[in-house]
Parts: sequence; C-alpha cells; structure tokens
Amino acid sequence: MTDKKDTIQTFEYKAEMKRLLHLIIHSLYTHPEVFLRELISNASDALKKVRYQQLTEEGMIDKEKDLEIRIEVDETTQTFSIEDNGIGMTQEELIHNIGTVARSGTLEFLQKMKEEGKDTADFIGQFGVGFYSVFMVTEQVTVETRHAHKEAQGLRWVSGGEGNYSVEPIDKPGRGTKITFQFKEEAKEFAGESRIQETIRKYSNFADFPIFVNKVKVNTVEALWRKSEHEITPEEVNEFYKFITNDYEDPLGHLSLSIEGAEASYKALVFIPAKAPFDLMRTREHKTIQLYTNKIMIVDDCKELLPEYLQFIRGVVDTADLPLNVSREMVQSSPVLGKIKSGMTTKIIQWLQRLANKETEKYLLFYKTFGPVFKTGVNTDFANREKLIELLRFESSALKVGELTSFKEYGGRMKEKQKEIYYLTGDTREHVERNPNLEYFKKHAIEVLFLIDPVDVFVVPSIREYDKKPVRAIDQGDVDLEMGDGNKDKSDDSLSKSLIGLFKETLKDQVEDVKISRRLVDSAVTLVIGAQGMDRQMERMMKMMGQDVPASKRILEVNVDHPVIRNLARKYILNPSDMLLKKCITQLYESAQLMDGELASRSDYVKRMMEIMEEATKS
Ligand code: ADP
Repeated sequence: MTDKKDTIQTFEYKAEMKRLLHLIIHSLYTHPEVFLRELISNASDALKKVRYQQLTEEGMIDKEKDLEIRIEVDETTQTFSIEDNGIGMTQEELIHNIGTVARSGTLEFLQKMKEEGKDTADFIGQFGVGFYSVFMVTEQVTVETRHAHKEAQGLRWVSGGEGNYSVEPIDKPGRGTKITFQFKEEAKEFAGESRIQETIRKYSNFADFPIFVNKVKVNTVEALWRKSEHEITPEEVNEFYKFITNDYEDPLGHLSLSIEGAEASYKALVFIPAKAPFDLMRTREHKTIQLYTNKIMIVDDCKELLPEYLQFIRGVVDTADLPLNVSREMVQSSPVLGKIKSGMTTKIIQWLQRLANKETEKYLLFYKTFGPVFKTGVNTDFANREKLIELLRFESSALKVGELTSFKEYGGRMKEKQKEIYYLTGDTREHVERNPNLEYFKKHAIEVLFLIDPVDVFVVPSIREYDKKPVRAIDQGDVDLEMGDGNKDKSDDSLSKSLIGLFKETLKDQVEDVKISRRLVDSAVTLVIGAQGMDRQMERMMKMMGQDVPASKRILEVNVDHPVIRNLARKYILNPSDMLLKKCITQLYESAQLMDGELASRSDYVKRMMEIMEEATKS
C-alpha cells in the first residue's frame, strides 16, 4: 500500500466557482432547509440512474440490494449523514460534477438577483449547484462515493466550501454515496429528528425511493402520474411538481393525460411553471420531461418528447411501449418517442386553447412568461401553425398598455372599409406610439397591432394573411391608405412635385425614393420600407446577432401640409438654388433616421442643426 499522504490530491476551485459559493452561502439564508431537498434529490437521481443502468449494462455490483436513502441525524453530536446505494461517482465525475458551475451565466444571474434583493432560493434548483447548499448549514463536508461498476475505486472528497477540496482513494465495498457533516451553530435546529422528518414530508414526499430517518421510513412512494385525475388532489399535484422541478412555487397549471393509442400508449402529468427560467431563450438548456417506462425512469431530461417551442413544459411521461434494457441513445431515437411527441404536442395546444378561451387571465400570464419561446412554433411547427397563430397575442393601439389581443379579436373590431390587418414593430410601446407612421391610423382610428417583443419580427411577417385579410406592416411603402375620407391626393400639386424633385436630387442614392406622404399628420417626414425592403426591427435584430445584412434603402415620405415643408416650398419659389434648402432636406432626412435609431453621424447632425439655427436667428 502506498503512503496515504501521497494519495491525497488537493484541488482549488476555479475563481468563478469560489465567487458563486460565497454568494450561495451568504444569500440563501432565508431557506437553509434547501440543503436537505437538494441532497435527497441528488440521492434519488443517483438511485434512478443505477436502477436503469443495471438493466442495460454489465458489471454492476449490489444488484440485489433494495434501492433506498438512509439519513442518520444525532442531536447530541449535531452530526448528519445521508447515504444512497445509487450510481456513485468516479474520480472524474467527482471533480467535474461537484467542482464546477454547470451553466454559463449562473454567477452573473445570481449576482444580479441578489443586487435586486430577490430571493435566489427560488432559482437554485436550475443551476446545478444544489449540492453546495449544504454549506449554508455546515463548515465542512465529506463525500464518500463509489461508482456502481465492479472495477470502480472508492473515493473520499472533503471540502470547506470556499477555497479548495481534496480527493483520496478509500476502501468502500458497496456502491453509492454517503455525505457526512456536522451542523454549524446557527443551523443546529436541523439536528433534530422531527425537524428532518418534517422537511422531508414537505419537499421530498414523492421521492421514488423509501427514505429512512434514523431507521424509520418517512415518505410514501407512489407514482402520481399513473393515477387518474379525480384520484389526485390539487395539493398533491402541486407538491409533486415542486418535487420533480425543485421549484418553490406552485405551477401555473397542469395537464394529466392517459392515452391508449394504436401507435403509442402513455400516461403523462405535465406542468407550465409559474416563472420562466432566467435564460428562457436558450431552450436547449432547460430541463423538460422525465421519461419513465413502467414506473422506472429511463431518461431524466428527454428533449425528444416535445418540440423546441414547448421546452419550458415540465413533468413526467410514462410509457410501456419502450423496452427497458436498451441504451439511452436507442431510447432517444426510438420512433415511439416521435409518436408520443406529436400526440403530446396536440394535447398541449388543446390545453392552451382551453386556457385562452376559458381562463384568459391564466393564459395571458402564460403568454407573457413563455410567449417569446412559444410563438416561435409558428415558424417551426407547420402541422399546428394555424392553431398557433390563433394563440398569438399582441398589444394594440386600441388597448391599454399591457393588455393583449388576438388576430381574431382584432378582426372583429376592423372598420368597414378596412381590408388589411396592420402592425408596427418597435422596441417598446412608447417607441411605437411615437412613430410618425402611426399618425394616419390614429387620425382615422384604425387599429394597429404593436409588435414589441423582439421575437415578433421573426414570427408575424411570415403570416401573410389571417382569415383572408393581408397582414401588413404600416411602415411599408404600399399599405392601403384609402380608408379615411377626405385624404385628398396631393400628387397633382406641381409645386409639391418640384420640391420632391429637389429632395431626390439632394438625397440621391441614400434613399430608394421620395414620395408625397398620405400617412403623415403631424410629422414632416418619415421613412418607410420599399417593396424589397426588410422590416427595420428585423434588420436591427439580425445585426445584433452579428449577421451581415445589407442595409436596405428606405422610401422617404414627405408631408406637404407640414409648415416646415410649406416654408421650404415658398423658399424654393423665391430661389431654387438657396443653399439652406438642401441643408434642411438633409436635416429632415436624418431626423427621420434618428427617430428610427439609425442615424450614422450625430456630430454631423448637430453641426448642421447649428448652421440652420444660425441662419434662422440672423437678423
Ligand atoms: P444538480 O443535481 O442540479 O446537477 P448538484 O450540485 O446538486 O447539481 O450536483 C451536481 C452533480 O453531482 C449531479 O448532477 C450528480 O452528477 C453529482 N452528484 C451529486 N450528488 C450525488 C450522489 N448522491 N450520487 C451520485 N452523483 C451525485
């Protein structure tokens, strides 16, 4: 045997991990009992893994043992241990799994939450750092583990949390993991047997495995999703949700399915969470569905069961149509999953339709929370596209800030002469409300949908028609502006025509065209999209994502009734080559660009403004 000292290896946490640990230890104090839920959840995962792997892989030890979690707690010594006979960890896994931060952005996010005074405990389960919550109740932790494979080596990992940790080989005949520590003074309340039991009943009642506290079994083990809807209480459903997701809040809603089909039979219990994950748009990183076959979990995060735009749904699916003894990879590529996926997608969409029609408040809450991901389904799920379009919601010029409407409701409010559905894109409600292109529509009380979620521009322009009515952006050059009576055609006015000629000559190829506007009321000029042009908001988004988009040229529309334009026309009659004319035209064009957030040079703009002011104030 080698000298033990030689075999102890010490590792230092990476800087990011250290800072994260510090944050966890010092800001989660409102819920110190989190530690127990996290440890039980890890033990339970390890047991699920071994249950499945011993069916699919050779060379596993302790196959005959009952799968269970054993907790020992001693009030006098204030010590605690939790032991599972699950999959255990190899040295590599130990170092990789509990020495690093799993998801990028975690530290920044938690730090921000803390600065904003929010409770990070609500989110802790999302980050793969749950294990470290033990450092809220203790100063030093020992993990003894042995992977279930017969060749594996027992290992001991010891850490004081902040700083470093050590790993050394030990003799450990049985598979699984045992975690031991002594409570710190502030946390000694947890050393009581009854306190531990109470906490388990609160958070971990649905563990798949028996949990013993000082040799007494404390939980009930049952597969809630196999029961029918009327056999389960709302409280049970909520507790179950919290158990599988490590969430603290009740879900927004749940759907229970029991499908006996020719193609696939399954039972499912799925949920819409109340809150979105902090990185909602990175759908690939979210945990989704746990896949069981005959009560045995075979994949803990089965992304193949739902389309990407529904990946925020959590829950359990249990089917008897998958063989147990095949690898995870084979399970994930099985055609049965495809069948369940399309079946579940249909059911979930029906569920959302029910919410939208009967529980509107709840649906809007859902839409505001998960809309940015959900609405992308319009572009990706062609089989359900029409139904998804019905489920879209928007702010609108006819509604108060924060209120949402559907295409259908919009259709019901359309004016008699109105043939098209209108929308306008922008960063914020304030931004769209100030857009000069809205003036005509305001004046004639024609409703315009406001697309202020950045995702909208990827979704709505692809909807060319709704209920046979064209869906149009109002900043397109060729929208129908014939609805309001008395909007006389001004293009015959020859003075206006020659002034427009001067605009064209001045701006040359900076614009696609210059036209007399029929949409402006209060503003002098505005930029609209030409026939070939791309939506401005879309162009901006693509640039933000680092895509190389050629800036498409706009059409400048001029309001010939505006006092400034009328003054320019007068000056033009007196002296067509007055230098001030071109200066003002350039300034007007750049003002429109400025309004759109597209001004190239602010200093040129300001310099020219000074020159014009100098001219105007000259006596
Ligand atoms: P999470 O469980 O969210 O991934 P944790 O910090 O709680 O984050 O755990 C990190 C990883 O350490 C787990 O994903 C698992 O791979 C491993 N681990 C933790 N506890 C155990 C255990 N009792 N048995 C086996 N592996 C474990």
